[in-house]
Amino acid sequence: MNFLKFILVLFVIYIDSISFAQEPQELKDKYVLVIHGGAGTISKSTLTPELEKEYKDALKEALKCGQNILDTGGLAITAVEAAVKYMEDSPLFNAGKGSVFNHEGYNEMDACIMNGKDLTCGAVAGVTNLKNPIEGARLVKDSSKYVFLYGDGAQEFCLSKGAAYADSSYFFTDFRWKQYQKALEKDTIILDHDTTSLNYNYKALEELEKFGTVGAVALDRYGNLAAATSTGGLTNKEFNRIGDSPIVGAGTYASNRSCAVSCTGKGEFFIRETVARDIAARMEFGNQDLTESGEKTMARLEKKGGSGGFISVDKRGNYIMMFNTKGMYRGVVTNDKKTSVKIY
Ligand code: ASP
Repeated sequence: MNFLKFILVLFVIYIDSISFAQEPQELKDKYVLVIHGGAGTISKSTLTPELEKEYKDALKEALKCGQNILDTGGLAITAVEAAVKYMEDSPLFNAGKGSVFNHEGYNEMDACIMNGKDLTCGAVAGVTNLKNPIEGARLVKDSSKYVFLYGDGAQEFCLSKGAAYADSSYFFTDFRWKQYQKALEKDTIILDHDTTSLNYNYKALEELEKFGTVGAVALDRYGNLAAATSTGGLTNKEFNRIGDSPIVGAGTYASNRSCAVSCTGKGEFFIRETVARDIAARMEFGNQDLTESGEKTMARLEKKGGSGGFISVDKRGNYIMMFNTKGMYRGVVTNDKKTSVKIY
């Protein structure tokens, strides 16, 4: 009896390892790319029609960058990096170029990328002069023996591997500087996503809080999943604070066994609830589908007071874009070439 049980366990492990490790050979038609540019107190009344158009155009362009790769048979990991890179280069989002200022008045950025095919991943945190932190994360994944590098060392490593350098003046945007001055004056941190959790009058700040962390998840034509997230974190953050975005399982996660996830919101809550991994684990071990898994994870997050959102795509190409804030910059494109971008 025990021997039979042992054989059965071996068989299950064998089947599981084949389905996980084997790269599907066939180039299929189906692919999906989903992106976000942060969630928060974003409503029609706080965005001018011109700005709304700028956001939507930027989201469409970011989708195009990733879609070109997926459409021609490129990998999910390449597509999510390209989409995030585009948003990092835009001053509209709180990542790369548009990153917020920390308490000392400079930019500290975090990013993470993960390949669902083999669970390889790379992350950087607290980098100050990498033009594209997501490029740094990719270099850590591909060219280091580590998963997560921090601060000066992270930067030194990435630059030595060819990452693009940017002087601190590159990250200066007038808008972000004003936001920082406001936060200093009020002695608070500012989360792009949820002005309602701050205990002072936000009216003036609302105008200033329209930007957010960026992320992308994709399913490629080989059936592989990948996720990437990049952020400047919170305005006026202190003591080298690191959020959820670069933490595997908190703000970013991908596994071909289940799904790929990128989150946005107040990082402390997402870290405690390991939001990205929870969504995946509910599918992997709990037999839940992506929607149920997302809804249950969101409910738990909300119960603990967390606000924000996440995007996810599963191995069958189902996808979700969930948030409990007023809005989330988001978009999706699939192999039928239909692109959709939304804010509210
Ligand atoms: N999750 C990010 C952080 O806590 C912030 C964001 O999503 O805007 O650093």
